[in-house]
Amino acid sequence: MKTGFTMLSQSASSPARTGVLATAHGEVHTPVFCPVGSQASVKTLTPQEVRDTGAEMILSNTYHLYLRPGIELVESMGGLHRFMGWEGPILTDSGGFQVFSLSPLAKITDEGVTFKSHIDGSSHFLTPEGVVSYQQSLGSDIMMVLDDVPPHDGSEARVTAAVERTSAWAERCLKARTSKTQQLFCIIQGAVNPELRIKSATELARLDFDGFAIGGLSLGEDKQTTWNMLDVTIPHIPLNKPRYLMGVGSPEDIVEAVARGIDIFDSVLPTRVARNGGLYTASGRINIHNSAFKTQDRPIEEKCSCYTCRNFSAGYLAHLFRSSELLGLRLASIHNIYFLQSLTRCIRESIANGIFEGFKNEFLAIYRTVSEETRKQQKQKWLAKKSGL
Ligand SMILES: [Zn+2]
Repeated sequence: MKTGFTMLSQSASSPARTGVLATAHGEVHTPVFCPVGSQASVKTLTPQEVRDTGAEMILSNTYHLYLRPGIELVESMGGLHRFMGWEGPILTDSGGFQVFSLSPLAKITDEGVTFKSHIDGSSHFLTPEGVVSYQQSLGSDIMMVLDDVPPHDGSEARVTAAVERTSAWAERCLKARTSKTQQLFCIIQGAVNPELRIKSATELARLDFDGFAIGGLSLGEDKQTTWNMLDVTIPHIPLNKPRYLMGVGSPEDIVEAVARGIDIFDSVLPTRVARNGGLYTASGRINIHNSAFKTQDRPIEEKCSCYTCRNFSAGYLAHLFRSSELLGLRLASIHNIYFLQSLTRCIRESIANGIFEGFKNEFLAIYRTVSEETRKQQKQKWLAKKSGL
């Protein structure tokens, strides 16, 4: 079976495009949003429920699976697809980001990175070759290189070193890859420095990767800076390769990034906000804890065809959350993932029909976004909580 990316249509007014990414476990239609199952589980949902939302590819995480239950165990049980009961495509992140965000005392050298487990404090050493070998053992369809993720406000010297190390590690990952069916994506770094982003993209574009991820963004910088970084970086990525913006997945960000040429998204946000009662609607994110929903005898989103909206009122959901019933978390997660699958499907159709610009403007005019300040506070709270584990 031939794997790889084929571009299907391109917007006349922006770099937005549609495509199909063929993998050993099926096709992925882009732009695509991938729900995240870091620990080989999309929190609270069965693989069938995830599939029923329309999701084609999910993301899992080498760092988490390496620490628990261990790569060898997953491999001995037939690989990640069989272990978690998901038959479709899986993308595995390498662990670069997790090492730096979950293990603040990580020590990095040109050889690799030493870090302490956030679970039991044990010491581990990850190398570029190691993470490729682990992902080959897991059997993921898209593997990611190990990268050096500098803080968005890191010094120029630190960010330059990270870019150079990320390029050298990417080359080592490419050499270490032996699988013919598993694709390998590189990761462009450079924090918020346009010259370094271009340097990173240009160096990596010389190597034969199956796809290009843009990492180290949406880590606390303002939105306009994130978009500026995409605008300077994307022209340096080969046109025929898929572009993946790592860790970004709110509805408005997906629309903005697609307009700049991004094909693949992943984020824990839709399921995390769902578990906190945050639900996406066409007019913005609502909070089910708001007392107005207690008596609403209509679904959260009248036009939504997800399992939750077809069967339950917002009032029932509000009751579940107020009673701390686990079903509430599941129904909210189903709705939010479905919302993003529905959004990306509309995006694909509008690009194919040449009306993406109108779709984008209409969506952004109606969708009420969370303020920049609130968003930053939420992100910092989460990062602080993570690093304190
Ligand atoms: Zn729904």
